[in-house]
Amino acid sequence: QAKDKGRGTYRFYAAQMNAQSAERLILESGLRRALVREELLLHYQPKLDLKTQRIVGVEALMRWRHPTLGMISPAQFIPIAEETGLIEAMGQWALRQACSDAVAWRRQGLPALQMSVNLSPRQLGSRTLISEIATILDESGLEPELLELEITEGAVMKNAEQAVTVLETIRGMGIGLAIDDFGTGYSSLSYLRRFPLSTVKIDRSFIHDLSEDTDAQALTDSIITLAHGLRMQVVAEGVETMTQLDHLRSRGCDVIQGYLLSRPLPAEELCRFVGGYLHHQIAAPIAA
Ligand code: C2E
Ligand code: MG
Ligand code: MG
Ligand code: MG
Repeated sequence: QAKDKGRGTYRFYAAQMNAQSAERLILESGLRRALVREELLLHYQPKLDLKTQRIVGVEALMRWRHPTLGMISPAQFIPIAEETGLIEAMGQWALRQACSDAVAWRRQGLPALQMSVNLSPRQLGSRTLISEIATILDESGLEPELLELEITEGAVMKNAEQAVTVLETIRGMGIGLAIDDFGTGYSSLSYLRRFPLSTVKIDRSFIHDLSEDTDAQALTDSIITLAHGLRMQVVAEGVETMTQLDHLRSRGCDVIQGYLLSRPLPAEELCRFVGGYLHHQIAAPIAA
């Protein structure tokens, strides 16, 4: 009986594994064509400066509209893109698209917004990265000071020596550098000193727990103090409530990003959102 049960369990797992690897294969082959079939797009999430009450930038977030499966989350397709190496072409496309959208918004009369683009570990390891960035800035006409690249601790940990050189070159070009999901990786403190970062983004898991959890508060407060001590700007991600915003403001956090302000939006909607925000800012500022 036990044997039967065991075999049944095995069969169940095998079936599940097959379903998983089948799904993975479908996504992988779909992803290979996604770029040329123009199924990839960018949404933009605005960031609010807590001191000036102004929208100071946006983060570009990749979306994949699969022809039959519909919208697929980056949590699902970015890891596959990373493993297969497809992320290099996809990331390059995202950077080019984001820079050209930023320039287009300016032409439509929006104030200058900082454009933040996520950089994957694989891209960071690419020998052609610097020249690709230079070409994209040149072709789009975006000022390097308006571009920021977001990297994770995992990305710099793989090959720290090489990463330092690449990151210093990027900073030398005038481009901003943010460490993303800060507090979730390892060796966070030493990396803050070692890499030429301009911004620290506090991971949204800390922000989520801010209201009830005093440990999350202590960690958030420490990250803000530490980052400011090292002359870096602090962005809190995943801000969803006024309670969270009030806490962050009281601790001197510089910028917030999250559903409280807005979800990531398609380019035209972002443009309208910022335009509308400018007009209504005086009448109804968020949490003034
Ligand atoms: P991330 O860079 O940390 O981006 C922030 C994520 O938090 C986004 O998820 C955003 O939609 C989500 N978010 C923003 N505000 C809130 C909030 O108030 N509550 C909650 N629960 N979530 C919020 P998204 O768009 O699903 O992206 C997930 C991750 O995929 C990103 O995390 C990033 O690591 C990766 N990713 C997205 N686009 C790109 C890209 O173009 N290149 C690379 N390499 N990675 C990307
Ligand atoms: Mg990010
Ligand atoms: Mg993040
Ligand atoms: Mg995150």
